[in-house]
Amino acid sequence: MRIYSTRDENASWRQILAGSVISEEQLNKYLPFARASAGEIASVAKQYPMRINPYFLSLIKAPGDPIARQVIPDPLELAGCGAIEDPLTEDLQSPVDNLIHRYPDRVLFLVSGQCAVYCRHCMRKRNAGVKHSVHSSDIEGVVKYIRRTPAIKEVILSGGDPLLLKKALLEEILLQLKGIQHVQRLRIHTRVPCVLPQRITAELVDLLRRFSPLYLNIQFNHPDELTPEAIRACEMLANVGIVLGSQTVLLKGVNDNPDIMVDLMEKLLCCRVRPYYLHHPDPVRGTMHFRVPVETGLDIMKGLRGRISGMGIPQYVMDLPGGGGKVLVSDAYTTKSPGKAPCKALVIKNYTGKSFYYPL
Ligand SMILES: *Cc1c(COP(=O)(O)O)cnc(C)c1O
Ligand code: SF4
Repeated sequence: MRIYSTRDENASWRQILAGSVISEEQLNKYLPFARASAGEIASVAKQYPMRINPYFLSLIKAPGDPIARQVIPDPLELAGCGAIEDPLTEDLQSPVDNLIHRYPDRVLFLVSGQCAVYCRHCMRKRNAGVKHSVHSSDIEGVVKYIRRTPAIKEVILSGGDPLLLKKALLEEILLQLKGIQHVQRLRIHTRVPCVLPQRITAELVDLLRRFSPLYLNIQFNHPDELTPEAIRACEMLANVGIVLGSQTVLLKGVNDNPDIMVDLMEKLLCCRVRPYYLHHPDPVRGTMHFRVPVETGLDIMKGLRGRISGMGIPQYVMDLPGGGGKVLVSDAYTTKSPGKAPCKALVIKNYTGKSFYYPL
């Protein structure tokens, strides 16, 4: 049974978003059990904004459950010793504002800092709820850079959540990118179908369908997120030929268990979402309490193999600190550091053969 049930079937996505819980007082009102010591949630939310929209709030069944952990501020966020704000040095690989160019053939275009919920585990916590949406002049700079860089074949809209942009702005961005001759495909990274499925309206789907081939990767982290509303949103997108994938983040207390992962991946396959990545959590400041040992991820991968269709098995990857890019995590690629590293670490080679230390 849901403990919070003011989910209004007829509310528009804007109304739902406007009803979000953003303060400790509101949280205490709707979820009395979530109360940490007075003032604790408020001080966390001051540093890292809170937003829990009523739809996602309604999925919380019990204190500290896998949905609650993803969105309710935790005092541990302020105790992140050892962690850094931007371990992947994204801000150093940014040739123009709002663009990250790490791999030769594809770029990330950060179009907004706004999201339908603020995930406590966000790897871009430094931007979430802080950065504003891009303006036309920002788009111009990015488009110019991509235009003069013919190696770029794919542009990934990310953020923040691109699907919270105003329709006209999203359309302008997609049209401009589509108009660049060497850009072969577009991709969108979003949590909207999972955390605010009401936003996937017929009007939005009609807009997106014009930009084929369009790939949409959604972050689903737990089987409870696949509600009838979320399933319907995925169906609407898949029905017009948008290719759906899931980028799941491995999170302590949310999904760090093979049975939960099998359930999640099976449910995703049922709604035409192909598991793409299982991300090892990045050592980002404010998220360290979500981290699990690499062995946990490897055990989960072993638990998936053989138990579900190969189509349901994501690639287990980690992002190398210092902007080395993503690497597959497997027993074969990782060795314990021989003592040369600054601390206990794995030594991992990336796609160019360069070695990186990964702190354990
Ligand atoms: C993850 C990422 C991409 C996309 O990588 P894929 O492996 O193609 O999904 C592109 N640029 C940056 C900076 C990234 O972090
Ligand atoms: S929706 Fe994505 S960008 Fe936004 S807070 Fe969650 S993980 Fe971060």
